[in-house]
Amino acid sequence: MTQRIDNLWLWDGGSRVLSHTSLCLEDGRIAGITPTSEAESLHPNAHPIDGRGKLAMPGLVNAHTHLYSSLARGMSASPYAPTTFTEILEQLWWKLDKALDPKTVRVSALVGAMEAARCGVTTLIDHHASPNAIPDSLDALQETVVDQLGLRAAFCYELSDRDGKAKRDQGIAENVRYLSRQKSANVASQFGIHASFTVSNETLAMVADCIPENAGIHIHVAEGPEDEVQCEASHGMRVVERLDRFGLLRPQSILAHCLHINEAEKDLIAQRDAIVVHNPRSNMNNAVGFFDLGGFLHRGITTGLGTDGLGANMVAELFTAGILQKHSLGDSLAGSFDALYQLLFVSNPAIATRLLGTDIGRLAVGAPADFVMIDYEPPTPLNEGNALGHLLFGTAVHTMRVTDSFVAGRPILRDGQFVDLDEEAIYAHSREQAASLWKRLG
Ligand SMILES: [Zn+2]
Repeated sequence: MTQRIDNLWLWDGGSRVLSHTSLCLEDGRIAGITPTSEAESLHPNAHPIDGRGKLAMPGLVNAHTHLYSSLARGMSASPYAPTTFTEILEQLWWKLDKALDPKTVRVSALVGAMEAARCGVTTLIDHHASPNAIPDSLDALQETVVDQLGLRAAFCYELSDRDGKAKRDQGIAENVRYLSRQKSANVASQFGIHASFTVSNETLAMVADCIPENAGIHIHVAEGPEDEVQCEASHGMRVVERLDRFGLLRPQSILAHCLHINEAEKDLIAQRDAIVVHNPRSNMNNAVGFFDLGGFLHRGITTGLGTDGLGANMVAELFTAGILQKHSLGDSLAGSFDALYQLLFVSNPAIATRLLGTDIGRLAVGAPADFVMIDYEPPTPLNEGNALGHLLFGTAVHTMRVTDSFVAGRPILRDGQFVDLDEEAIYAHSREQAASLWKRLG
């Protein structure tokens, strides 16, 4: 069916801002962007939807998240008194992921992805861990996030040695099995690794041995200072160099955080064209260090933005990325509009496009119909070149009400409601599952 949404404000993700515009969808793609006054004669058979008072924009990409953390909201881990980043993992996240079972893996992914959709996200790049429910866990994520809800996503299993060789081997097997599955433009896979400090050389050699040539890894790099300290002490080299020795710095590889890497490591990432993803709110919450945004962008490194599982609001994350740069550097010009635009509206679509093999991130005729509509009546002129200012100082710091969301033309949200899901029943089930998950915490 051809659909037509009339009377919209439209931002194409680039420099084009239009008012009184109609967006026409056909076969999962954008078939037309025209003035509403001409839309009926150009697309007379399309089913019309009124988009008055709404801004249409490209669906957003979250380039690093952990859907497995969705049921941690309101949870208390006790005792909790970490003094290092590793102790945050030990006292909180590694307790939570060990308590996940197949049921909680599913509901955690579903509610996390639903909340992402409510924040305008249409593509998620997930890093999954459930050490006591590893086999087929990535299929469970795909079935809930992609098949049931309808988002696009990339998945991987967060391999580590922390729970012994049997779990390590299960993690490798899950990544290998999932990487070998037939993929579509809606789903991609990576080889997940937790971090350099939780994998031995033997484990990395096994990854290097079985990762397909055209696949990348997804790993935390130098999130806390201890990753580099441990790598130098145990392996006599820096983390990025170590990954490169195993041939794992690739254009499809995502290195999350990279807070404590040195200049030579940044040069190496640039040479290999690997991807770096910044997660400002998580970094601030864990008090782990400063991200050298300028140093990555200056080198031409594809530098994207993620939430690291801490919420799903990419526009708020972007706003935080900007003010964090300004505050940390004592420079109000740092974290500029150009730098922020690069993170969320250039790099993130480029990362999704690299992994999924389909063109993500622009509203243009012929492009996949991945877009969202937000309630937005601009109180000041909205025109070419200032859409990002409206998002940052309008929606990010006030409210961002996403009313409608489409992925490849499939409606996910319509008029603020999920199209195919019973949200109330899913949330009731989620509360039950979360309560039993919390009881299982070690
Ligand atoms: Zn992470």
